[in-house]
Amino acid sequence: MPDILIKGALAVLTMDDARRELVGADVLLRGGVIAQIGVGIDAPDAEVLNAQGCVVTPGLVNTHHHLYQTLTRAVPGGQDALLFGWLQTLYPIWARFGPEEMFVSAQIGLAELALSGCTMTSDHLYLYPNGSRLDDTIEAAAEVGLRFHPTRGAMSIGESDGGLPPDSLVEDEAAILEDCIRVIDKHHDARDGAMVRIGVAPCSPFSVSRDLMRDAALLARDKGVMLHTHLAENDEDIAYSLEKFGCRPGQYAEDLGWTGPDVWHAHCVKLDGQEIDLFAKSKTGVAHCPCSNCRLGSGIAPVRAMRDAGVPVGLGVDGSASNDAGSLIGEARQSMLLQRVANGADAMSAREALEIATRSGAEVLGRDDCGQIAVGKRADIAIWDVSGIESAGSWDVAAILLAGPTRVRDLIVEGRRIVADSRVVSFDLNRAIVRQGQLVKKLQTMGGLQDDKTW
Ligand code: ZN
Repeated sequence: MPDILIKGALAVLTMDDARRELVGADVLLRGGVIAQIGVGIDAPDAEVLNAQGCVVTPGLVNTHHHLYQTLTRAVPGGQDALLFGWLQTLYPIWARFGPEEMFVSAQIGLAELALSGCTMTSDHLYLYPNGSRLDDTIEAAAEVGLRFHPTRGAMSIGESDGGLPPDSLVEDEAAILEDCIRVIDKHHDARDGAMVRIGVAPCSPFSVSRDLMRDAALLARDKGVMLHTHLAENDEDIAYSLEKFGCRPGQYAEDLGWTGPDVWHAHCVKLDGQEIDLFAKSKTGVAHCPCSNCRLGSGIAPVRAMRDAGVPVGLGVDGSASNDAGSLIGEARQSMLLQRVANGADAMSAREALEIATRSGAEVLGRDDCGQIAVGKRADIAIWDVSGIESAGSWDVAAILLAGPTRVRDLIVEGRRIVADSRVVSFDLNRAIVRQGQLVKKLQTMGGLQDDKTW
C-alpha cells in the first residue's frame, strides 16, 4: 500500500487533544497510520491527494446501526407507527431474510455510511433467520473496507412468552451464548488498528430475559469485549421497565452489570438526572440517534446534560427502517439542531457536533487509536470539498455542518482509499444496488406484499 500525502488542505480539523485547526496543512499517511502533519511536507514516493478547497477531518464514527434494515426502508404500515407498533409491522418481513439478504443489505448500508464520511461503524444484528450469521455482515465489511464493530445481538422472548417478536425470530439462550463465543473467538481482534471487533448485544431489556442480560455481561467481561443494547428509548420503554422490572432502565442496567466503560447503550432519550449521573460516574457510553428519535417520535435525548456531566456520547444513524437514511454527517447536523430546539441556539456548536461524530464516537467504541488526526493514530480520514454549491459563500469550516456538502470527496480507512471523487471505489456498488432491488421484490412476493402502493 503506497504512502498517501494529503496536500494543501484549506483546513485540517484535527480533533486532537488541543483541538487544533491547521490552515494549508498536509497530512502524510504511512502503513495505515498518520505519520506526519504540517505545512510543506516532502514525501517524494507518496501518492499525492490535492486537498486545496477541502476541509479534512477524522473519519466519522457510527455507534449504532442495524445494517440489515436497509432492505426495509419506507415500508408501508411502518412509516407512521410508534416503536412497538413499528417493530410488529417489520418482524414478519425480517423473518424472511437469509444470508444473502444480510450480506447485500450490509454492503449497501456500509457504502452509504462511507459516502457520508464514516470510516468506522458498529452494527447491531439481533435476528438470525434461515441460516443467517454475523459472519455475513463481517464479509460485507471486509469487502467495503470500513472498520467494523459488529455486535452479536439476540432475542429470546417470543410472542408465546409475552414478548414482542414472533417465535420464529427468537433463539434459545444457551445457543445465543454459544454463538457469541464462536464469533468472538473467530473474529475479535483486540490489537491497535483492528479492523474487526465483536461486541455482545442482547436486543433490548424487553426482548430477552434478565438471566441472559446478566450472562451476556459475564461473558463479555470474560472475553474482554464490549456490551451494547437499546435502553430508555421512549415512554413505552420506561413504562415497560417500571411494570415488568419494578425499576427504571438505568437501575436495571446497573443491577445486571450493564454499566462501565466497556458498555454503550443506544438512544437513552428518557434518562433522568440520576441515570445521567450513574452513566457519567461509570463512564457508560451512549449512542445518540437523533434522526431515528425524530422519525419514531421518541423525544429529544438530553445530550447537553449528558455531555456536561461527562457521559461519553457518540452518534448513530440507527437502522435504515427507522431513519430511513444512513448519512452520518446528516446525523451530526441533526444532533446539533435538536439540542438547539431543546436548549437554545447556543446549546451546541457545529464543532462540538463534529467532535461527537468523530473523537467521542471512537471513545464510546473503546478506540483510542482512532477518531483524531494526530501522529500515531490510525489513518482514517474524510476529505470534504467545500468549493461546490452547498458551501459556496461560507466564511468558516463550520460550513461542513451548517451548510454542506453531505458527501465526502475522498475517504480513507487504515490508509486505503474507499471513496475517490465521491464514488465508492473499493467494490462494485452499482451491482449491489441492483441486487438489493431484486431482494426487495423477492421479500414482497414472499409476503404477498406487492400491491399498487409498493414499488
Ligand atoms: Zn436500534
